[in-house]
Amino acid sequence: MHTPTTRAVTTLFLAGLFPLSAHGQDAAVDAAVDRFAEQIIELRHRIHQNPELGNREFQTAALVAEHLRSLGFDEVTEGVAHTGVVGILRGGLPGDTVAVRADMDALPVTEDTPFSFASTVRTEYLGQEVGVMHACGHDIHTAVQLGVASVLASMREEIPGVVKFIFQPAEEGPPPGEEGGADLMVREGVLDAPRPSAIFGLHALADMDVGTLGYSSGPALAAVDHFTIRIIGRQAHGAYPELGIDPVVMASQAVMALQTIRSRNLPALEPSVVTVGIMRGGTRFNIIPDEMWLEGTVRTYAPEVRDAVERRMDEIVAGITAAGGGSYELVYDRGTPATINDPALAERMAPTLARVVGSDKVRVLDPVMGGEDFAYFANEVPGFFFRLGMVAPGVESGGHHTPTFQADDSSVPVGMRAMSNLLLDYLRSRPTTE
Ligand SMILES: [Zn+2]
Ligand SMILES: [Zn+2]
Repeated sequence: MHTPTTRAVTTLFLAGLFPLSAHGQDAAVDAAVDRFAEQIIELRHRIHQNPELGNREFQTAALVAEHLRSLGFDEVTEGVAHTGVVGILRGGLPGDTVAVRADMDALPVTEDTPFSFASTVRTEYLGQEVGVMHACGHDIHTAVQLGVASVLASMREEIPGVVKFIFQPAEEGPPPGEEGGADLMVREGVLDAPRPSAIFGLHALADMDVGTLGYSSGPALAAVDHFTIRIIGRQAHGAYPELGIDPVVMASQAVMALQTIRSRNLPALEPSVVTVGIMRGGTRFNIIPDEMWLEGTVRTYAPEVRDAVERRMDEIVAGITAAGGGSYELVYDRGTPATINDPALAERMAPTLARVVGSDKVRVLDPVMGGEDFAYFANEVPGFFFRLGMVAPGVESGGHHTPTFQADDSSVPVGMRAMSNLLLDYLRSRPTTE
């Protein structure tokens, strides 16, 4: 999640665009949110204080499953895509099926917040001892969704259809060598039987105040790829470069030339990023090493742009290493696809957001180059992913994935109201016959 620029919505929320048949239902949601908010915020504290890394969300999943069972859910399935939990809530009226997703994983970050429920958990990650922290707000997402479960279960007789609650592991990516996250959940059939006709998700946003909601129609978050390049030369004495093939020079040329993909090979208005994050090699100042290692990320939206970056990357490194007399190995790993909000669904649901917080508190967000594996769900069924303001007045939160990231408790009931209303409005707008 990265910081998008925002612009206020002015014209979208014309009265009558989305006629609400029963205003009383909103009051029912509000009353239920008020009733459950305190209990859900306590659960948020427990989740925050006991963060678990991707594919290791054992306690969190147990807490989730226990909560859903206590609400009388029709089905609760654990162990989906390792530690995922899926709950089915059947309403008392006939109708369609809708899904809602929250992610549960934390990050290897050492918490530095004034929260009384701050995490002191430590673990080993990739051979290093690290703190563990909910530094992206997934504790808020999980708590909000548990709250939505409480709200909707309390009014289930009035719900026309079925709500599938998906609690997902490993959104930030599974540990190296493991599978996980939304991709694995979809492959394990989480969207089958019953198949939802739409899916909803939310994400806390570190530069948005509590009480504010944001969304994008169409492109929302970028595709995330990862590449590694091994540039192979021949080792030599630093004083006699003519006896070797210098991979440092070839790698340096490659880093610079890769930036021309964005500036020279792609249209200027087409979003893309090529970042080399690691450049490693050499052992001593007077030795030309035998190889260099480059590693980085590519962010794109359009599939053709993604293809073009991969192709040009290969051509550029091939050309440079051929000219330098060396060779190379490029591994281009396609990760999460772009998250695209279904435009028709976004248009249909935006008035609900405005009703929940007021149209002056809803922001239309520009697409960002961060990624989100909600994309795997939204590629299967129409998806709507929106942002939840999380910064309390007078507080300055650190950015996502930093030790000072501070999502405020008061965002939890706002998220509960927004998501409960979205799911209800969606189901009520659907045909009741199957
Ligand atoms: Zn994150
Ligand atoms: Zn996140």
